[in-house]
Amino acid sequence: MFAALVLITQANLDAQIDRARLKATVEKLASWHDRNTNNPTLTEAADWLASELKKIPGLQVETMKYGVKKGARIKEDKEVVQVVATLPGEDDRRILVGGHFDTINMVPRDLETSLQSRAPGANDDSSGTSLTLELARVMATRKWKHTLVFIAFSGEEQGLLGSAALARRAKEEGWKIDALLNNDIVGNSGNKLGQKENKLVRVFSDESDKHQSRELARFIAYAARAKDFGVKLVYRKDRFGRGGDHTSFNNEGFTAVRFTEVFEEFSRQHTAEDLPSGVDFDYLRHVAQVNLRAASQLADAGEQPTTVRIDRRQGYDTRITWKSTAETTYTIYWRDTASSVWQRHKDIGPVSEFTVKGINKDDHIFAVGAKGGIPVEAK
Ligand SMILES: [Zn+2]
Repeated sequence: MFAALVLITQANLDAQIDRARLKATVEKLASWHDRNTNNPTLTEAADWLASELKKIPGLQVETMKYGVKKGARIKEDKEVVQVVATLPGEDDRRILVGGHFDTINMVPRDLETSLQSRAPGANDDSSGTSLTLELARVMATRKWKHTLVFIAFSGEEQGLLGSAALARRAKEEGWKIDALLNNDIVGNSGNKLGQKENKLVRVFSDESDKHQSRELARFIAYAARAKDFGVKLVYRKDRFGRGGDHTSFNNEGFTAVRFTEVFEEFSRQHTAEDLPSGVDFDYLRHVAQVNLRAASQLADAGEQPTTVRIDRRQGYDTRITWKSTAETTYTIYWRDTASSVWQRHKDIGPVSEFTVKGINKDDHIFAVGAKGGIPVEAK
């Protein structure tokens, strides 16, 4: 379905994701006794991540400080850190990729014992942090149209504190965020019941008029899949009773989705047993490749079309019109009205209207997107 040139580029990008580096980062992070947001180990791990990111040419690395307040999982008011690395593009539209590097052991009931307990967090969420660092390394090897931001969040286990602080700041500073790809628990392919899925990753998305997270998820599932690895869409903001850093961005009106493995091993999460031995590094490499395919398309996409309309006159074909932007090429998508995923697409160039021959508008949903960008449904 994709043009040959795109396939070659994507294959080249895919090949740059390095399994050994992904594994080394997870092992390094899991070697800390814990990385609890209350403890000095969090700052040590943040300093190490910042030093790794600073080795990458072109990245602007910031150790961001924010305040947390005493509460059920926070011992005392204090200032904590997280890492934000920016790869400037030709413009200031931003694509964010992130995971949380803090960990927690929730087996002990009292806070003090919990803070002293081993919490390696190899899968939750060294996997997502390692993926983020790997994408930074690969994507910094060339220049992109838009600005990329790679984030290692902290305070996730205390209630999404770091992501809330960054999302608030992004709102205040007027960041133009096209998408956040949040990766949390992305390195395990099977569970204790013997259920296994190493060909799919779940993408969770919230539905809202305030952001385009659902359309971003639908786009990722269609445009970032590979022959041997795809996306399982979950049309929910997250799992029951659980949360993730994408939600902090949704709450500020930003488009953000969550990647998570299909079969989680709940017995290891938030315990001393969340070790690198429980991570399937081939699986993690595939998830990193999906992220890279999505981020690289989004990072070069033109302006979104506006006023995307279906010509309502009766006929055998479907004519769609929109407001275009100079130098932007477009892709048209369609699917059956009863399908929740895109089924077909056509790249159509720098135009502001297109007629899909022989496809009946009454039975299909259509959308138009800048090539590589989030599609806008035709109404
Ligand atoms: Zn997590």
